Amino acid sequence: MTLRHSEQYYREARKKMVLEQLLARKISSREVLKAMEEIPRHLFVDQGLAAKAYDDGPLPIGYGQTISQPYMVAMMTQALELSPNDRVLEIGSGCGYQTAVLASICREVYSIERLEPLLTQSLNVLKSLGYNNVTLKLGDGQVGWPQKAPFNAVLVAAYAERTPKDLVDQLAPGGHLVIPLGAEDSQLLVLTTKNLDGSFTRKTLLGCRFVPLVSERVKV
Ligand code: SAH
Repeated sequence: MTLRHSEQYYREARKKMVLEQLLARKISSREVLKAMEEIPRHLFVDQGLAAKAYDDGPLPIGYGQTISQPYMVAMMTQALELSPNDRVLEIGSGCGYQTAVLASICREVYSIERLEPLLTQSLNVLKSLGYNNVTLKLGDGQVGWPQKAPFNAVLVAAYAERTPKDLVDQLAPGGHLVIPLGAEDSQLLVLTTKNLDGSFTRKTLLGCRFVPLVSERVKV
C-alpha cells in the first residue's frame, strides 16, 4: 500500500533536508538552498518512493538509472556559480529534478537524455510544475548541443573517463563545467573553468558515484 502524505509533510521534509543535508555540509548558495527548499522532489520519483524522496541518498528512477542524492545536486549546482541570466546545458536529465533546480535559478536550461521514457516522464513533470524555460531533447549528450552553444555552464550527471571535448568547446568564456570522472567504483567530481583568456582551470571537488555516460558512438 502506498501511504500518501500531505503537502505540509513534504514541505517539512524539504526544510529538514535543507537544514541537515545541505546547510550542515556547507552548501551556502542562497539560490540553491531556496530552489531545493521549494521544488517538490517527491513528484519526480515513483509514487511508491515519494516518502523517501528527501532522504540522504540517491533513489532508483527505473531503467537502471538514479536520481542523485540531494547533497550531490546542491554541490554540483553551487559549483557552477550560476547567475539569473545564464544559459545552461545539462547532460542526463533523468527524472528532471536537477533540471528543475537549474531552471529555478537560470534563464534557460537545455537538457539531453538518451532514454525516451525518462525524457517523456521528466517533460510531463516539468510542464505540470510550470517550467517554461527548459528545452529537452533525446540524444547522445556527449556531443552537446552545438546549435544552442555557447553555454555559461554545463552539468554532466553521469561519469566518463574524461571530459568530452565537445562539451568543453561549447562552454562560454568564464563558464564552468562539472562532471564525475573515473571508473565505475572510483570517481571524482571535477570542475573545469574556461578562463577569459581561453585557458582552463581544473579543480577536484569530492568523491562520488554516478551511473555511466553511455557512448552512442562506440558500439561493442
Ligand atoms: N540528474 C538526473 C540523473 C539521472 S542518472 C536525475 O537526478 O534524475 C544519469 C542520466 O544520464 C540517466 O538518465 C541516463 O540515461 C543519462 N545518460 C547516460 N548517458 C547519456 C548520454 N550519452 N546522453 C544523454 N543522457 C545520458
